[in-house]
Amino acid sequence: MKSNEPISEGLGATILGPRNYPREQQNPDLLRPPPTDRGLVPNLRFSFADAHMRLSEGGWAREVTQRELPIATKIAGVNMRLNPGAIRELHWHLQVELGYVLSGGCRITAMDQHGRTFVDDVFGGDVWFFPKAIPHSIQGLKEGCEFLLMFDDGCFSEYNTLLVSDVIEHIPREIIEANLGIPLNEILSIDKKQRWIFQGRIPELLAKDYISKNTVPQSFSSSMKKIEPIMCDGGTIRILDQAKFPVMNNMSLAIVEVEPGAMREIHWHPMEDEWQYYLSGEARMTVYMPDAGVRTFDYKAGDVGCVPFAAPHYVENTGTTTMRFLETFRSPVLEDVSLQQWLALTPRELVEDHFPSFTKSTLDKFNKDYLGIVRTKTLK
Ligand code: MN
Ligand code: MN
Repeated sequence: MKSNEPISEGLGATILGPRNYPREQQNPDLLRPPPTDRGLVPNLRFSFADAHMRLSEGGWAREVTQRELPIATKIAGVNMRLNPGAIRELHWHLQVELGYVLSGGCRITAMDQHGRTFVDDVFGGDVWFFPKAIPHSIQGLKEGCEFLLMFDDGCFSEYNTLLVSDVIEHIPREIIEANLGIPLNEILSIDKKQRWIFQGRIPELLAKDYISKNTVPQSFSSSMKKIEPIMCDGGTIRILDQAKFPVMNNMSLAIVEVEPGAMREIHWHPMEDEWQYYLSGEARMTVYMPDAGVRTFDYKAGDVGCVPFAAPHYVENTGTTTMRFLETFRSPVLEDVSLQQWLALTPRELVEDHFPSFTKSTLDKFNKDYLGIVRTKTLK
C-alpha cells in the first residue's frame, strides 16, 4: 500500500498544511512523481469537470480550449448535450468541426458552397466533419445525445460562432426584407432571446426530411465502428484518416483501447501535436520535451490530454478495466514512430555502443514489428 503522502524512495515528507485530498488522490503521479520526472513541462491535462458549463434551454456545452489548456494551440474541444429535439442553432465558424457521438443520436445537416446538401442521423461511435465556414446544425433525436466536438484551432470557442439568428437580426431590416422576402412585421417579431441551443420539435424519420437530391459528393459523416482495428497484444487501435474519410482533409482521429496491464507503447508522431480525450478507465502518461523536461500526468474519463509535436510518450492503463481514449491530430494522416521498432531496426553495433550495459539477450528481444500496444505486466 503506497502512502498518501509525497514520500517516495526515501525523499519527501508528509503534508502538514491544508490539502485537497480528493484532488491529490486523482493525481498520484503529481503527488509522488516518478524519479525520472524533472524540469518545467507545462500542464498537459485539463478535465471537462473543471470547465465552465454553459446552460441553455434543452442542453449544455463546456469547452477545453487554449484558454483552459495553454499548450493546446492546435485543437480545441467542446462537450455538448442536446435533449430530445433540442437544436444547436444553424451556424458556421472559421474552423473545421470534427464531431464524435458519445451517446444517443442526433441529426446533422449542412449545405456546401455549391448548394449541395447533407443530412444524416448519427449515433454512438459515429463521427462527422464539417469543412470550415460550411453552415450546419445538430439536433437531438428522440433519445437525445451527447457528443465531443474538435476544432482545428486552440482558440476556438462556442461563444464565437456565426449564428443564423444573430446574422438576420443585425442586417438592416429593409435589406433582409428585400433579399429574403420576409415582411417587416415578421422580422420585428423575431424572438430576441439568444438561441444557440434551444428546444425544438423531435425530428421526423430521416426520409421525410430530405429536401434536395443534390447532395454533397463526399459524405460529411463516417463511423469509428466500421474501422478495422489494428490488433495488438493488449488492445486495439482504430484509425480514421483522410484515406478512409475523404472530406476530412486536415484532421485525423484514432480510438485506442488498452486492456488492464497494458500500455500504448513509447512512441511519437511525425505530423503534429496530439490532442486526447479519455473515454473510460484510468491512465497515466509521461511526456518528454527536449527543451522543458519530463512530467507524468494521470487521466480519467472526461479528461483532455495534450502531447506537443514529436515528444515521446506512452499511455499506460493504471486501472482494472479497459481504458479507452481518442487521439486527434490536425493532420490528414495519423502516424507514429515506435521507440522499440527503431532500436530493433538500427544496426546492432550502433545500439550496443550507446548502451554497453545491455546484454545480447536484451537486444534480441527488441521487436522489429510495429506493436502499438504492449503488455506491462502479467495479470493474475
Ligand atoms: Mn459547429
Ligand atoms: Mn500518441
